[in-house]
Amino acid sequence: MPEGTRPLIVGPEPIAAPFPLKMQGLVQKGFGRGSKELGIPTANLPEESYCESFKLLDAASNTGVYYGWAKVDGVDNDEVHPMAMSVGWNPYYKNEKLTAEVHIMHPYNQDFYGKNMRVIVTGYVRPEFDYSTLEALIEDIEFDKKVAIHSLDRDSYKELKQDAFFK
Ligand code: ADP
Ligand code: MG
Repeated sequence: MPEGTRPLIVGPEPIAAPFPLKMQGLVQKGFGRGSKELGIPTANLPEESYCESFKLLDAASNTGVYYGWAKVDGVDNDEVHPMAMSVGWNPYYKNEKLTAEVHIMHPYNQDFYGKNMRVIVTGYVRPEFDYSTLEALIEDIEFDKKVAIHSLDRDSYKELKQDAFFK
């Protein structure tokens, strides 16, 4: 979808149910589908960390891109950063399992596999689209990142960056 055809700010202010959703778990190795090579590394949460929350999201029908805040315990001074999260059916498991992959908008200078990642999901950005080119995919993800930054820049969303869950 070309830039400009969807809004930069999504979801209500103040934030409303079922958000915010809080989840945490040890970062898992993914299938190395090359997200890092695209400049968009995505850290995988373990299934038990998100299955309860995703029931609230009805994610089975609402796969796509979510946004919110994230941090990794003991890494980068425990700073909280904006994140964009992709939720989808995993082809590796014959589409019987959901995956949740989190791109944190911060240039970490190290990998953090095995570390505890904490995520507060604050809203839904868009469903999954089919892309004809890699460039189109990357362009859309770059727009998702802008949507996350702008949408988080509202009082009830900014407050969550200071949430006790991250302390
Ligand atoms: P995988 O297939 O193992 O998920 P990726 O290419 O998607 O591999 O890279 C994800 C890994 O990169 C994460 O598990 C994490 O250790 C590391 N990483 C480094 N910077 C980031 C970032 N800003 N956001 C997410 N993961 C990051
Ligand atoms: Mg990944």
